[in-house]
Amino acid sequence: MGEFELIRKHFLPVAQTVPAAALVLGPGDDCAIQRVPAQHELVFSIDTMVEGVHFPNSYPADRLAWRALAAAASDLAAMGADPVCFTLAVTLPAAEEPWLSAFSRGLAAASQAFGLALAGGDTTRGPLTVTLQVHGVVPVGQALRRDGAQAGDLICVSGTLGDAGAALDYLATDEPTPDQSAVLARYHRPRPRLALGRSLIGRASAAIDVSDGLLADLQHLLDASAVGATVEPSKIPLSPALRHLKGEQALRYALYTGDDYELCVTLAPANWQALPDREREALTVIGTVESARGLRLQGDTGAAGDTGGFDHFRRDS
Ligand code: ADP
Ligand code: MG
Repeated sequence: MGEFELIRKHFLPVAQTVPAAALVLGPGDDCAIQRVPAQHELVFSIDTMVEGVHFPNSYPADRLAWRALAAAASDLAAMGADPVCFTLAVTLPAAEEPWLSAFSRGLAAASQAFGLALAGGDTTRGPLTVTLQVHGVVPVGQALRRDGAQAGDLICVSGTLGDAGAALDYLATDEPTPDQSAVLARYHRPRPRLALGRSLIGRASAAIDVSDGLLADLQHLLDASAVGATVEPSKIPLSPALRHLKGEQALRYALYTGDDYELCVTLAPANWQALPDREREALTVIGTVESARGLRLQGDTGAAGDTGGFDHFRRDS
């Protein structure tokens, strides 16, 4: 199968699955064309996933496609952007029909789920690598950025944390228990918080998605905003499955492991009070932004910036 036949068979059909009025021209020409509505800005981000680095060797192709698009879409969610379209650069060791069909299937499902239309791409031969650029739009000046947190703001996270990190321990398990299946689903099928991100526009002062681990990602937000924070570990939302599987260790997964693609946002207390029920129910308050730099865990005796009693939990990877 030649390059163009491969594209026509496995990628062009994906482009048909999501109607995108803002996509003036999709795959097939030298460039795609995206219309940006008046009074809006284009928000875009690129992510690369390399086999053996960002996903396990021989990882199923449909899951790979979903995870790659979910990870990229999560960056749009963190900006409060409306998803529009994406381009896909895929490097393949060989044109294997079953692999390509599965990849195409996973990509179409994710594309539909996240409302991101395939606008074009590039197909090359080499070690398995998937690069996605996602495009979204936000009203001018309204994007949720990392640098807007103010002392006194509440720190919130969506959903529960630590499940995807715990799932790494069970990727090779043949017959996972229901709890193991629950955390594995978080790893294989992450659901970026696109609707929540959009609804936090004009309400949240700053936002970031949790891809590397809560403490690491929150620290990025605090640094960008030139502030510090105290987080209450007892308030960090943990799933029942994670508690059952990891017991006393559950918190360390929530603090230090990534891939959950939840949002971590800061909000002035008045904006938290005024949140619609749906958004408030999706979020848990875990701490407060402070003017003193550093990230403190309540109950710690350590100095500013020291994660004290939790340090021995830290993973080296
Ligand atoms: P060019 O040489 O002009 O860069 P290509 O030969 O790379 O064009 O691609 C031809 C067309 O097919 C382009 O419109 C491109 O966007 C599209 N395309 C190539 N690979 C993919 C892919 N993996 N997914 C979607 N569209 C693709
Ligand atoms: Mg090209």
